[in-house]
Amino acid sequence: MDTTRNIAVVAHDNCKDELLDFIDCNRGMLVQHHLIATGTTGRLVKSLLEKRAAESGDASHPVNVTRLKSGPLGGDQQLGAHIADGEVDILFFFWDPMEPQPHDVDVKALLRLAVLYNIPTASNRSSAEFLISSPFFDHEFTVKKGKYFEYADRELK
Ligand code: PGA
Repeated sequence: MDTTRNIAVVAHDNCKDELLDFIDCNRGMLVQHHLIATGTTGRLVKSLLEKRAAESGDASHPVNVTRLKSGPLGGDQQLGAHIADGEVDILFFFWDPMEPQPHDVDVKALLRLAVLYNIPTASNRSSAEFLISSPFFDHEFTVKKGKYFEYADRELK
């Protein structure tokens, strides 16, 4: 049974240190999965994990991070498309509650799709710790499709 997950990670600038620290503290678990990230977040995560791998000399898990475009340049929308295509299993999205973003509409769209597709999502450190310590994190878990999935087949008057 393959329980390798596609884990999306995104953080707004003021939240990047928190996300990186979370990833650092949980890297043993996270490197066993495939990470997918918006551009800047992905660059920082990749360089952190590569640094830690070099320090430990442990090459058993190659750093596996797919970088999309930066959030404000369309990365959130790319991630939303991956969710719609069923290619994201878990989302860690540390969004900034204190500063408006130039791409606020994209942020909202990404969060909407995560809810629509019933993707386990953590928006801050506490929820991220809860999610990663769930017994479902690295065991088989089927995300139930919601009631919206027959939407395109609905009756139109
Ligand atoms: P970034 O984008 O990782 O390129 O900074 C994050 C976001 O704002 O969605």
